[in-house]
Amino acid sequence: MENTYDIVIVGAGPAGMTAAIYAIRANMKVLMLDRLAPGGAIINTNEIENYTGAGKLTGAELAIKMFEHTQELGVEFDYRTVIDLKDEGEWKTVVCEEDDAVYKARAVILATGTVPRRLGVPGEDQWAGSGISWCAICDGAQYRDKEVVVIGGGNSAVEESIYLAGICTRLTIVTMFDLTADPKACDQLRKMPNVTVYPYQEVLEFTGEDRLTGVRFKSTKEDATERYVTCDGVFEYIGFAASSEAFAKLGIVDRTGCIEADARMRTKVPGIFGAGDITVKHLRQIVTACGDGAVAANSAASYVESLKQ
Ligand SMILES: Cc1cc2nc3c(=O)[nH]c(=O)nc-3n(C[C@H](O)[C@H](O)[C@H](O)COP(=O)(O)OP(=O)(O)OC[C@H]3O[C@@H](n4cnc5c(N)ncnc54)[C@H](O)[C@@H]3O)c2cc1C
Repeated sequence: MENTYDIVIVGAGPAGMTAAIYAIRANMKVLMLDRLAPGGAIINTNEIENYTGAGKLTGAELAIKMFEHTQELGVEFDYRTVIDLKDEGEWKTVVCEEDDAVYKARAVILATGTVPRRLGVPGEDQWAGSGISWCAICDGAQYRDKEVVVIGGGNSAVEESIYLAGICTRLTIVTMFDLTADPKACDQLRKMPNVTVYPYQEVLEFTGEDRLTGVRFKSTKEDATERYVTCDGVFEYIGFAASSEAFAKLGIVDRTGCIEADARMRTKVPGIFGAGDITVKHLRQIVTACGDGAVAANSAASYVESLKQ
């Protein structure tokens, strides 16, 4: 039957692509869907230095390698935004936005990752995409020899700040707590001569008339001192929200929207599996996403085989 698969994988990031490789090698008929180009969050990552055996490479390079691997094995891929998933017992129906496409699958692996969170302060909507960015590798070059503010202090904020500080004249970090990233990366950033860190701050607004010109923030300590820093661009790294709206009604997500899966990546709905950053987990990295993808595919293939017997 056309549009009928053993396993449909939603999301072609590291988790989805690894799941696809394991699923097709388990002789499953596999379809992988993504609303964007394959690669997921790593497409927008400057340098990756912690993916075992890969050395130092850009996120885009790794994304291409992963996708080529799926294509060499014959994984079917399509550009689709999944807007609904229906559980009909032994069959699942995957509903897409584009062309009202519908796919039937015996098992579905959800590997839809996360999207950046926003602050929700005045000026953010006005300058989003034209002054405020969530991706240094995509937009950083515009700020060569200019002044930049980074909001956040976690791994993404610190890694991307190291990259941005190398090209801009002055980089200011405004963060709710202190820097919480990998200590080695924090040390590297603090040593950069053009970097100033303001910990324990709350962003109040982004200002500007014809273009973004600055950020106002205040201390969360007792003194509540207000500061204003001029800048040409802002990069926000304040965490991520789970991309799970389309699946929430199945009762498989927690209160943060992350998919609850067991050690075999099974959700509480038989035949629906989760993998990667979208799942409830402690460490959201490429290597852990790939591990989840492999486990999810292995479990999904066993499940499909059991239905066919
Ligand atoms: C700036 C930054 C730097 C990072 N640096 C590193 C690093 O150096 N090392 C490291 O190990 N990790 C790093 N990470 C983390 C790493 O990128 C993630 O852990 C990893 O990409 C998670 O993979 P995933 O497949 O679970 O999700 P993602 O990579 O987020 O992929 C999910 C995919 O699902 C698609 N999707 C979502 N919803 C739908 C839908 N409804 N329909 C169809 N498709 C959908 C998305 O378009 C996306 O392609 C970094 C992340 C960021 C943001």
